[in-house]
Amino acid sequence: MISILSGDNKQNGLWELIERDKILTRDNFRDAEKTAKKSGRHIVEVLAEQHEKHVDKLLHIFSQYYKIPSIMLRNRIIAPYIINLIPKEIAEQHSIIIFKKLGQDVYIAVTNPENSQTVDFVKKKTGLEPKIFITSPQEITHGLKKYQNELEDEFSRIIQKSTAETLALHASPERLAEHVPIITMMNSIIERALSLRASDIHLEPTDSQVVIRFRVDGLLQQIVELPKELLRALVSRIKLMAHLKIDEHRMPQDGRFNFSFANRDIAVRTSVIPTLNGSKVVLRLLDTKEQLFHLRGLGFNGHDLHIIKKEIQRPHGIILVTGPTGSGKTTTLYTLLRMLNKEEVNICTIEDPIEYGLEGVNQMQVNTPAGLTFSSGLRSLLRQDPNILMVGEIRDADTADIALNAAMTGHLVLSTLHTNSAFLAFQRLIEMGVPPFLATSVTNLIIGQRLVRRICDGCRIPYRSMSKITETYADNLHLRENVEKLYSRKLIENRSLDSIKFTHGQGCKKCNFTGFRGRIGVYEVVTLDTDSSTSVLKDYSEKFVRTLAQSNGALTMLEDGILKVIQGATTFEEVLRAIKE
Ligand SMILES: [Zn+2]
Repeated sequence: MISILSGDNKQNGLWELIERDKILTRDNFRDAEKTAKKSGRHIVEVLAEQHEKHVDKLLHIFSQYYKIPSIMLRNRIIAPYIINLIPKEIAEQHSIIIFKKLGQDVYIAVTNPENSQTVDFVKKKTGLEPKIFITSPQEITHGLKKYQNELEDEFSRIIQKSTAETLALHASPERLAEHVPIITMMNSIIERALSLRASDIHLEPTDSQVVIRFRVDGLLQQIVELPKELLRALVSRIKLMAHLKIDEHRMPQDGRFNFSFANRDIAVRTSVIPTLNGSKVVLRLLDTKEQLFHLRGLGFNGHDLHIIKKEIQRPHGIILVTGPTGSGKTTTLYTLLRMLNKEEVNICTIEDPIEYGLEGVNQMQVNTPAGLTFSSGLRSLLRQDPNILMVGEIRDADTADIALNAAMTGHLVLSTLHTNSAFLAFQRLIEMGVPPFLATSVTNLIIGQRLVRRICDGCRIPYRSMSKITETYADNLHLRENVEKLYSRKLIENRSLDSIKFTHGQGCKKCNFTGFRGRIGVYEVVTLDTDSSTSVLKDYSEKFVRTLAQSNGALTMLEDGILKVIQGATTFEEVLRAIKE
């Protein structure tokens, strides 16, 4: 171990970096040096502990200084088979957590960057190559909590037991698919996914293993690794459940099956594709009880709600929802359709895929091999005398042309566009060949959106230092101006930034120790009045449309996100992460 002496050259270098960021005084640093020396701990551990409100910046500095990346553990899901690579007692004693495993690499969070003995120990104990990340003692405490999760332990136990039993059976994969251990294993994987509120299960073969990952609140999380020998049996089991051809290994197959768990009926949409390493499976879990879609529940603010309710009353024109894949566009479209779904109107949709069945709506599924595309489907639907049409996505000139012309000839058309912002929609349509006049005259409403994770109500606490939060975001998010703006729109009751209490989730059983539970949208809602339409005709660039919309009162996704942070729905980090996507 390197001795920690004040005046040591190494520590001087560290001090210089801290001094440059002006976060601590020389006295703070000397204090930490003394404490470190007295307690036999490393100075960075003491600094991170004594100056918790600067922990982000300090970790960043330590990371620069020791040339190792930094990591926060509190919002991560760590699978039990990963964290348990070293026993809890050792993790606690040496202040380390194993948080990830990738092939032969094992990722370790440490508080002491120069503790090479522990790293060697992990290498010997796991037989894997350690990759070191620096973290704070508080983050290790969060990490240690992830050891205590009985549900996880029960799940691991079932997986281990059925793995051993399956491997002992020596039957063909097709036969194994009908045996108890594989059935038990597959059912527990689906049940575990449902209890973690996962939307998808990924079963991915690597060259030596089968990796199971869940998508929870939009993020893929590794759950378990299984021996490669189980791949064909598991895939056969899934094919059996989804009524797919078991002996077909070369062509992609799609199917569906139902699964009941804890009084819920779940439809499982199944997709199997061949890869170099064997079949890869994705299971999408859909609650068959039609979800209760309400605009307010989706997180639209009062200002945007008012505009949307007014605009969807118009009998013709087009309503567009924009955002990348997985930004919740479909849910918004379904919610609007439900609001429009009345007995006297004929609603037809062409979708890929149909995610929810809507009563009284004629829903058609795209089938490209059979020649049924968005554009050809839309053409057929127009002969069905519809009032309202929903097209899953406008992604080519042909579909754009038919959809906008339908909107001009007396239909209300709803669709999505794959653009990063609502303000970019006109430019995208025009680039697809839609005449600018048509694009600006038929567009009633554009909703741009992203999903952010919701703070868990089970473990919500105020940040320990509010001033740290406001300082961190005051400049780059123009917090003071935005608070003023939101106040002037009557969206918040408090116009003083300093009296706002920001909160976050510290992690509990309910949220699987991530601090988040469920998701909510952040939006930007754009409408054009006649004057604005005329000026967009001349300049339909994103920048111009944004400025124009803002001067007419529109909030950007970032501003709506700040509103949601102030309301306690999510955190600044989440909003920034989602908007960057
Ligand atoms: Zn929680």
